[in-house]
Amino acid sequence: MARYIFITGGVVSSLGKGLMAASLAALLQARGYKVRIRKFDPYLNVDPGTMSPYQHGEVYVTDDGAETDLDLGHYERFTGVSARQSDNITSGRIYQQIIAKERRGDYLGATVQVIPHVTDAIKEFAKADTEDLDFVLCEIGGTVGDIESLPFIEAIRQLRNELGRDQTALIHVTLVPYISAAGELKTKPTQHSVRELTSLGVQPDVLLCRCEHPLPESVRAKIALFCNVRPQAVIQALDAPSIYGVPLQYHAEGLDAEVLRHFRIEDARLPDLSRWDDIIDRYHNPEGEVTIGVVGKYVGLPDAYKSLNEALVHGGMANRVKVNIQWIDAELFEKDDSEIVSQLEPMHGILVPGGFGERGSEGKIASVRFARERNVPFFGICLGMQMSCVEGARNTAGVAAASSTEFGETTEPVVGIITEWMTAEGLEKRAAGGDLGGTMRLGAYEAKLKTGSKVSEIYGGATNISERHRHRYEVNGAYIEPLEKGGLIFSGMSPDGLLPEIVERPDHPWFVGVQFHPELKSKPFDPHPLFASFIAAAVQQSRLV
Ligand code: GLN
Repeated sequence: MARYIFITGGVVSSLGKGLMAASLAALLQARGYKVRIRKFDPYLNVDPGTMSPYQHGEVYVTDDGAETDLDLGHYERFTGVSARQSDNITSGRIYQQIIAKERRGDYLGATVQVIPHVTDAIKEFAKADTEDLDFVLCEIGGTVGDIESLPFIEAIRQLRNELGRDQTALIHVTLVPYISAAGELKTKPTQHSVRELTSLGVQPDVLLCRCEHPLPESVRAKIALFCNVRPQAVIQALDAPSIYGVPLQYHAEGLDAEVLRHFRIEDARLPDLSRWDDIIDRYHNPEGEVTIGVVGKYVGLPDAYKSLNEALVHGGMANRVKVNIQWIDAELFEKDDSEIVSQLEPMHGILVPGGFGERGSEGKIASVRFARERNVPFFGICLGMQMSCVEGARNTAGVAAASSTEFGETTEPVVGIITEWMTAEGLEKRAAGGDLGGTMRLGAYEAKLKTGSKVSEIYGGATNISERHRHRYEVNGAYIEPLEKGGLIFSGMSPDGLLPEIVERPDHPWFVGVQFHPELKSKPFDPHPLFASFIAAAVQQSRLV
C-alpha cells in the first residue's frame, strides 16, 4: 500500500514547496522507490488553462491533455514520471463535479456539505491510481491559514486518522527570517504557523525551514521544542544556487532519512545520486557560454516561460555550456527598426516561443527574418513556428499579405483554424479521428518525420515522435507548396498528413519551427534533443561572432 506524504506551506507563499516535493520524490526514487507527486490547488478555477500568465505563470500540459499548474513541470523534470490529469486537482474542479452530481440527484436528497462531500472528493483524488506506488507526495497549494485551503487540511486530518500515522507523513515548509537589526534568526513565524496547523488537528512530522542563514543548533532545538517535533526533523533549507542542487542539499541535511525514519523503514538502500552529481557538475563547470534571445511577450515574468527556461538550461548542460537567456520584448521591434539589429546581433541563437494574440506578432516576424537572413540559429515554438511560416510566406514565397486569422481577417491565412482552411474531406478524416477543429489541440500527438531531414537526425533517426501540444491554430496546408518553393521544408506532419508539425530550412545552419512544445518534456538528466541541438548550433555561432 502506498504511503502518503503531505506537503503544506506556512508563513508566506513562494517558499518553493513544489521544488521541495520534487526534490524529496527524486531522493526517494534514487533509493529505488516508485513515486508520484500530486498538486492540490485551493483556488476556484477549474484548471489554470484560462488564467493569465501574469497571475499564474506557465500552464503545464500533460500527455493526456490536462492544463495544469507549473509545479507539475518541476515534478516531471525531477522524477521523469509523466504527470497526468489525475495529478492536479483544484477546488473549482471538485465543486464542479459535486454540483453536477447534485443536479443529477445522485445525493438522493441529502444536504451536500464541505464535510463530508468536499473532503471525501479530496481524499478520493489523493488515493486514486496508487496501487503500484511506494510513495504519493501531495502538495497543498497556498499557505496554511488561508480560508480556501481549510477543506484540504481537514481531508489530510481525516486521512491520517484513517490510514494511521505510520502510513502518512506531513512536512510543513516554513520561513525562518533573519532580522538584520537584531542580528537574529526568528522562529516565531514558524511557531505560529505550526500552531495554526495543530489547531486544525494536524501535527507536522518534519519542518523544512527556508532560511538565508544557517540554522544554529539552538534555533533548531527551540523550533523542535515549541513545535513538538524531533530536533533532527527540523531541516534547514538554505537558498540554493541552482534548483537542481536542491535534492543533493536536502539529502545532505537528512530530509529523506528523516522521512524514512518517520515511516519506520529501516531497510532502505542508500540513494544513488550520481544523476544529480553529474547535473550539478555540468551546471557549475561549464566550458563556455552562449546567449539566446527569446523574443516574446511576457518579458520580466520568468514563470510564464518556466519550462522553456529550464529546457534551455538542459540544452546547455548537454553541451557543457552556460546558457544566458536574454528576454526581449517583441513589441520593441515594432516601434523602432534599429532595435532589431542592436538587440539581436549579439545573440548566438534566437527563439520565438509560444504565445497567444496579436500583440508583438510583427516583432516576432521581424526576428524570424533577422535570423533567416543573418544565418543565426532559429528555434520557433508553437506561435513561433506559425510566425516562421508567415515570415517565409511574406519574404520568400511572394505572399505579401500573409498572416494568421488569430490576428483578425486576412486574405492570406497562412495560419488559421482548420475549419477555416481544410477541405471537407480532410475535416471528415480529422473528425473520424476525434478532432472536430476549433478547440484547443491539447496533449500528446504523434508526428511523422521526413527521412533524411534535420529533425529526423536530431531525433536520432526516428520517423515517429510524440510531443505535447497546446494551440488552436494550425499552419494552412494550402501554403505548403509556395513555402517549400521558398526554401522551407515541412519535415514533420501529423500521421494523417494533414497538419504541418515541423518546418526547417536546409539552407540555413539551424532553422527549425515546431507546432508543439518540446520544452515540456525536457529533463536535466535527459535534455530534449531539439534543445541540445539548438544550443550546439548556438555554440557554433558563438565561434563565428
Ligand atoms: N496562439 C497560437 C494558437 O492558438 C499558438 C499557441 C501557442 O503558442 N501555445 O494556435
